[in-house]
Amino acid sequence: MTNPTSPLLEWTVIGAGPAGIAAVGKLIDNGVPPEKIGWMDPRFAVGDLGEKWSQVPSNTTVQLFLDFLHGSKAFQFKKRPQKFKIEELPTNETCLLQDIVAPLQWVSDNLKSKVCIFNGIAIALNFIGGKWEIKSKVQLIESRNVILAIGSEPKNLTYHEPKAIPLEVALDAKKLAQAISPDDIVGVFGSSHSAILVLANLLNLPLNKIYNFYRSPHRYAVYLDNWILYDDTGLKGFTARWAKQNLEKKVPEKIERILTTDHVFEESLSLCTKAIYAVGFEKRKIPVMEQYADVRYDDRTGIIAPGLFGLGIAFPQAKFNPLGQLEYRVGLWKFMDYLNTILPIWIKYSNT
Ligand SMILES: Cc1cc2nc3c(=O)[nH]c(=O)nc-3n(C[C@H](O)[C@H](O)[C@H](O)COP(=O)(O)OP(=O)(O)OC[C@H]3O[C@@H](n4cnc5c(N)ncnc54)[C@H](O)[C@@H]3O)c2cc1C
Repeated sequence: MTNPTSPLLEWTVIGAGPAGIAAVGKLIDNGVPPEKIGWMDPRFAVGDLGEKWSQVPSNTTVQLFLDFLHGSKAFQFKKRPQKFKIEELPTNETCLLQDIVAPLQWVSDNLKSKVCIFNGIAIALNFIGGKWEIKSKVQLIESRNVILAIGSEPKNLTYHEPKAIPLEVALDAKKLAQAISPDDIVGVFGSSHSAILVLANLLNLPLNKIYNFYRSPHRYAVYLDNWILYDDTGLKGFTARWAKQNLEKKVPEKIERILTTDHVFEESLSLCTKAIYAVGFEKRKIPVMEQYADVRYDDRTGIIAPGLFGLGIAFPQAKFNPLGQLEYRVGLWKFMDYLNTILPIWIKYSNT
């Protein structure tokens, strides 16, 4: 502990991905003095979006990314030194995620210069004496309120064989090319956005065969007047076009699609030399959190405990669509939109 008696902070945001960036901006917009805000992350490099997914085609439009960049006054995006590439792209098209990472890094660096920065990983979080203690390997931070924006990890299945290629490698065409050899038979699990991108990357490589193991049919987003059916689960943009063409109309010879309930599933899996799991995400955990070990949150408000709140892909907002279906809202603009409603409520609910 280098500084066990650091001044008590009002709010501390853990995580500097898109959700953490939005949270810091909106706290300042809502009148919290920047010097009373703590912000912790090991690298401040725009989270997994910046570090793992930057080579991935987006599933949201350029316009929604621009709305995010202009969504908080504290971002001071109008003061950027030059225009970013994303501002020159067609607003109703999708883009590569790296196009949004560059301006987000600028926003993140700008916010860093205003609030109290802690470089590190929170390894324990405890509520003691009416305040939260956040412990990293080198520091103990005290804060009245904490926002967890710690992101999620790709889920893995429990098959011991074959060897798994991490999703972050499989979603980066160059890295994937290095992980695959021509005699490989690759099993890809899943039928979501990530799974389709992996299949598209694999099909460009010289390899023996691809099995796509899936549990349910593809689901496509439908654009309606004021809302999108299957907005959070349906395929959009590039992945929707690719899946319709390559998996619905004419499946390439190299790909075989197999339901995981099919009797040939086990046998086909045993032929695979590599596996890629694109089967969803699960929230990261802060290893020691004595009072709230499994970090349950209210999915309509993000409230975990007095003075403890969750945001981002790890704690998405649940919202009914006009047809009464419950969706978990994940995406940059959705985090910002949610904060517009929920942060004033968090401030009222805060631990003061
Ligand atoms: C493949 C893929 C494509 C996507 N495409 C889009 C898209 O096109 N458009 C869109 O709007 N959204 C997209 N998303 C969804 C979402 O916007 C991203 O997942 C985004 O990265 C989530 O932001 P986050 O801040 O919640 O988490 P992350 O980006 O994961 O950031 C979490 C941060 O918290 C830090 N952290 C974690 N634990 C600790 C700890 N204990 N102490 C300190 N720091 C910690 C991490 O190091 C990281 O920096 C996509 C997601 C994926 C997986």
